[in-house]
Amino acid sequence: MFTGFVREIDSVGRIVIPMQLRKELNIVEKGSKVEMFSDGKQIILKKAIEDCIFCKSEEDLTEFEGKFICKACLEKIKAE
Ligand SMILES: [Zn+2]
Repeated sequence: MFTGFVREIDSVGRIVIPMQLRKELNIVEKGSKVEMFSDGKQIILKKAIEDCIFCKSEEDLTEFEGKFICKACLEKIKAE
């Protein structure tokens, strides 16, 4: 007996995340990112949230070469 959403994996390993779950996490837009982990028994799929590489803040981020830095940390670096 299954208690969660059951989806078939296609020939190249893709699955469709049910719209109900995508709406709950606000990952509806094309290009929304998810992060995946495995603990050897299960795959954990979570909404990918960009955060500052230094302080983990999610606000006022600037992207530089694929990494994010918040405004406060950027100001600190400039002041050094
Ligand atoms: Zn920061």
